[in-house]
Amino acid sequence: MADAPRPITGRCLCGAVTYSVDGKPVWQGACYCSNCQRQTATAFSVIVGVLSEVLTVEGSTLASYKTVSEGYESTTERRFCSACGSPIFSTIKAMPGVAFLKAGTIDDKSWIEPTVEIWTDSAPSWAPHFDNAARFARVPPAN
Ligand SMILES: [Zn+2]
Ligand SMILES: [Zn+2]
Repeated sequence: MADAPRPITGRCLCGAVTYSVDGKPVWQGACYCSNCQRQTATAFSVIVGVLSEVLTVEGSTLASYKTVSEGYESTTERRFCSACGSPIFSTIKAMPGVAFLKAGTIDDKSWIEPTVEIWTDSAPSWAPHFDNAARFARVPPAN
């Protein structure tokens, strides 16, 4: 896996929301849950997990919307830019301390390599998959 740049930087479509991560990614994967499908308007969301304590987000248009995954006792708070609609990152109540960046908002995406697929039970039949990623019907078992 290629090394991520440091810092990892990114922004929304209009540029009103920007972020910077002074640290390494801790997780890279694709989520096929039905909420990600609606939010991204496609079959899945590619996400990069980073520690919340090293993520700095700026921009007054940052808004959020909470979702609950079916049969999963946790809420996901989805941050997005209210000016242009870009999803930026999510935090999951069951996984405190980690922020999941929407990979498409990262400036340099060349190093990203999803190694895990989650909620594949919800994936539409036409969804592409990542050959080298471990697949989970829902979420991996908790440690
Ligand atoms: Zn924006
Ligand atoms: Zn999802």
